[in-house]
This record gives sequence, C-alpha cells and structure tokens, in this order.
Amino acid sequence: MIQLNHASKSYGSKVVLQDICLNLNKGDVVGLLGPSGSGKSTILGLIAKVIQPDRGGCGTASDHIGYVFQDHRLLPWKTALENVLFALEATSDKSSQSNMKQRARKALTDVGLEKATHYFPKQLSGGMCQRVSIARAFAIEPDILLLDEPLSALDSSRRSSILADLKRMIRQRPDMAVIYVTHNRNELADIVKYTYEISGGQLLLADKSI
Ligand code: ATP
Ligand code: MG
Repeated sequence: MIQLNHASKSYGSKVVLQDICLNLNKGDVVGLLGPSGSGKSTILGLIAKVIQPDRGGCGTASDHIGYVFQDHRLLPWKTALENVLFALEATSDKSSQSNMKQRARKALTDVGLEKATHYFPKQLSGGMCQRVSIARAFAIEPDILLLDEPLSALDSSRRSSILADLKRMIRQRPDMAVIYVTHNRNELADIVKYTYEISGGQLLLADKSI
C-alpha cells in the first residue's frame, strides 16, 4: 500500500532523510516518532506526493489519502460542511451532489459535530476544528491515512476524547494503512502494530508493538 524505496531528501546542505525504506500493507497501523526537525512530516509529504524525493522513490497503491495536519488547515471561508464537501468533490467521481452532502454530514456526525455543520472555522474551538479536519480525512474513505501530530495543538482535556474517536474510526476501517506521527508514544497505545523512529536521517523500527 505504501512503499518508500531508498528515498532521500535534503534541503540545501541539510540531509533530512537518507536512504529510507518503508513497506506498509493494507491494514498496517504504525507510529512514527522522532525529535522536532527529524523529518517526520517530510516522510508524510513524500507519501502524499506533496514533496518529491531527491533520490529513490515512493509508491502508493491508493488514490485516496486522508491527511490530518497538526494545524487543521481548514479553509476559513468555508463552513465545516463545505470544508468536508470540498475534499469529497476533489476525490469523488460520480457521486451526486446530494450523496456527497450525505457523506459529509455522516463524517461530521461521526466526530460529534452534527450540530456544527454550518459554522465557519473561526466560530469553532481548536478541538472542533481538528474534528472537522478528521471528518474531512475520513469522508473520502481513504485507504491511506496520514496523521501528523493530530492532537498537538489541543489542550490535554480535549486530547483524550479526540484520540478515542480517532482510534474508533481507525478500527472501523481495518483495511486502511495508517501512519501516526507524534511526539507522545502514549497516544499510540492499543492501536499500532509497529513503531518507527527517525534519527539522523534513518528510519528505525523502534518497537514491535506498544
Ligand atoms: P516537527 O516535529 O517539528 O514537526 P519534523 O520531524 O516533522 O519536525 P520536518 O518538518 O520533516 O520535521 O523537517 C525536517 C527538517 O527539514 C527540518 O530541519 C526543517 O527545518 C527542514 N525543512 C522542512 N521543509 C523545508 C523546506 N521547505 N525548506 C527548507 N528546509 C525545510
Ligand atoms: Mg512535523
């Protein structure tokens, strides 16, 4: 499902990733740890093809990649529902508009936001914005899900409920390959099969399971 093949990436003279290999199959849920600036987001960028490697390659057997960013990245001029719909329209082919609306509403209901569909991001709390961003990622029925520190912008009281919802939604899609980037390995408990760590440009298998 995801194959990084001896991928390397530098910015100027700074080597971020050096000869990285990673092979994830359907249903693999893995954690990715590493200090700030070690290249975690760069790996996700390679997989999402928003960053090109200097050498090596990245293959994905997927058209639908759900991506949850650290800072939700919602479009401020669109409502919660419109933000989710926008992602659906960009990825869906033949669904009718009303079918897409139904899917977007369902995705927002799954994250507990059925009553907030018509709010704009600035009218929502940080936690609610991150929930919209999670709904947006799941609405497209991804076969790959990239989570880039999805809880880091939230206060600790909000983290545990969003994490519980996230884990429930991941379990509901057992064929999805998931990479969960975090600084906090406790977030990975009960969900990941392996945990990787980036250190000095290398990707190492840190733990078989947590
Ligand atoms: P964090 O935990 O802080 O999010 P990270 O592990 O995700 O860090 P990356 O964002 O992948 O780290 O960045 C790895 C390194 O590459 C950092 O030193 C960063 O400054 C550098 N870098 C990333 N993007 C660029 C860019 N577009 N131009 C120059 N340097 C960059
Ligand atoms: Mg990062």
